[in-house]
Amino acid sequence: MMFNLEKSAQAFAEAKQYIPGGVNSPVRSFRGVGGTPPFIAGAAGSKIYDIDGHEYIDYVGSWGPMILGHAHPAVTEALREALQHGTSYGAPTLLETELAKMVVRLMPSIELVRMVNSGTEATMSALRLARAFTKRNKIVKFAGCYHGHHDSLLVKAGSGATTLGIPDSPGVTGNIAGETLTAEYNDADGLEQLFERYGEEIAAVIIEPVPGNMGMVLPRPGYLQQVRNISRKYGALLIFDEVMTGFRVALGGAQALYGITPDLTCLGKIIGGGLPVGAYGGRRDIMEQVAPAGPVYQAGTLSGNPLAMAAGLTTLQVLAGTPSIYEQLAAKTTSLCDGIRIQADKFDLTLQYHKAGAMFGIFFSAEPVYNYETAKKADTTSFAVYFQAMLEQGIYLAPSQFEAAFMSAVHSDDDIAATVAASASAFARVA
Ligand code: PLP
Repeated sequence: MMFNLEKSAQAFAEAKQYIPGGVNSPVRSFRGVGGTPPFIAGAAGSKIYDIDGHEYIDYVGSWGPMILGHAHPAVTEALREALQHGTSYGAPTLLETELAKMVVRLMPSIELVRMVNSGTEATMSALRLARAFTKRNKIVKFAGCYHGHHDSLLVKAGSGATTLGIPDSPGVTGNIAGETLTAEYNDADGLEQLFERYGEEIAAVIIEPVPGNMGMVLPRPGYLQQVRNISRKYGALLIFDEVMTGFRVALGGAQALYGITPDLTCLGKIIGGGLPVGAYGGRRDIMEQVAPAGPVYQAGTLSGNPLAMAAGLTTLQVLAGTPSIYEQLAAKTTSLCDGIRIQADKFDLTLQYHKAGAMFGIFFSAEPVYNYETAKKADTTSFAVYFQAMLEQGIYLAPSQFEAAFMSAVHSDDDIAATVAASASAFARVA
């Protein structure tokens, strides 16, 4: 049967009449790869279904949250139960403390945690707090890292901003962007030089410990410890943005995997179990500056709402309560990447394979990729050919070379075998 996205194409055309670009988040538009984005009708387990009747094995997982797979029975049941009691009260609930306790237990660097509604809110609030706590204004981010779409961090930003070629967005004022210094990921000397020059003014370094928004890049051995040491030496806070890596590369996130203790951590995605949740937390003395405990203002009408708390808490309970789930996730990721590599080798395609826990990324690049500059050299045209060939064979990957891929606990051996087989014919088209 011909691969046909006729209904999706019609739906996309109609959506464009009412929604900018037809989507509510830019990378969904398939600008990075061309073609029509399938409009989604539903999802279950490792599969996602479009309105044209196609089934896909899904490695996007709603961009990270669905580590247990779509419509996980325990999460669905928790939502059904919560729903019976109303959807939001704007008043304290027991569930919020339960989720906070769970986060504090799983990530020991977090002593107090505040729930928000997105990763963007988490990093925005963490920066404000860091500036207030240190009484300094500048922050350091790394080229190609993405921390959400608020002004301070839309500077050399990865993810959709890079895919669309707008890493520095119009509308961000020079004053705000001027307080954001950028460094190259994996270059500790460059960071030290930045601190030698601006050290007294830098409130915080914010980093994706394992970047997933310039494609997936791995930290060089010892690099994250160097970042920790440099920020401490100059009295700047270290903020780990674990919105993507938290509960993904390991139960305790990248900080557990690499043994680093940040001052503040930002969370999102998995912590909401598929509902809108973000969180920021860390050292008690810093977090006690947040209102009403302290003077740093931050609030939210729907923050900590019972549906989101129920979905997030249940997801973390399943993850924490399933022995060896992370070993299994990592084994599946390895098996998939190895399988794909064997197929690529048959066509003499040298690609870069990066993986950590349940997260992986493949660069169409013959050269090692270790930062934004090297990531941008990847062959996006070949990626687009591979991507479309995979989609047509029922494999749903992120529609951009500059995004990571996600394994879930319910991807089966058959799913992996089918993905490897699809790769074989996709590489034939690329070669
Ligand atoms: N930080 C990181 C590392 C992310 O990957 C993202 C989103 O992809 C964000 C922050 C922003 O989160 P949200 O899209 O929930 O605002």
